[in-house]
Amino acid sequence: MRDHVALSTAGAAVLAPLLGWQVLPAWAASILIDVDHYLWFLARRRRLSPRAAIRLFNQPDPPGQWGTRSLHHPAALLAVGLVAARLRRLRPLALGMGFHVALDTYHRRQLRAGREEALRRAGHSCQRCGHQGEDVGAHQWRQRLLLPSHRAGEFIALCPTCHRAAHEGGLPPARRAGAAVSGKGGGSAGVTDGRPG
Ligand SMILES: [Zn+2]
Ligand SMILES: [Zn+2]
Repeated sequence: MRDHVALSTAGAAVLAPLLGWQVLPAWAASILIDVDHYLWFLARRRRLSPRAAIRLFNQPDPPGQWGTRSLHHPAALLAVGLVAARLRRLRPLALGMGFHVALDTYHRRQLRAGREEALRRAGHSCQRCGHQGEDVGAHQWRQRLLLPSHRAGEFIALCPTCHRAAHEGGLPPARRAGAAVSGKGGGSAGVTDGRPG
C-alpha cells in the first residue's frame, strides 16, 4: 500500500505534464483500487476494524482468492477498459487501475523468484527448527522502509509452525543458530528481526 502510494505519486508527477488535471483521478484510482480487500473483509467478517483487516492480510497465508481482489480481477479491468474506450472521462480511472495491477504482477513475480531461491539455498528445511518437507515456506524477515526488495537473502525458510510464530511476533529459539540465513549477503543478525513479510 505504502509502496503503491509512493510509486503512483511518482508516476503521476511524470505524467502530469501530459495528462493535466486528469492525472489526479488516475492517481486516486491506482491507490483506491486496494479498497476491495477491505470491502471483502467487511462483507466476510462483519467487522469495521481496519487493524483487524491488516492483521488478517499480514498472516503467513493471507486470504488470496479473487474475492478479496475483485477490482484487480482481469474481468473488472476489462470492463473498466471497455467503458473507458467509449467514455473519455473514465480513461484516467482505467489508467490508474492498470498501473496498479501491473505493479502488483511485477511484484508477485519478483517475490516468487526470491522465495524459490531462498528455499533452494536452505535445502527446503526450516532454518529455525530444522524441519524438512514440502510445507516449508519462505518468510520475508526484513522489509525495507520503502520499495520492496526481492533478494533471496531477505527471506528465511520456515516450517508452518515457525512461520506463524514469526508473524505473531516471536520466532522460537534457533536450533541451529549458525545455519540460519547462511546464504550470500544475508547476515544472521536480522534473523531475530521477525517482521511480518
Ligand atoms: Zn520450524
Ligand atoms: Zn511470512
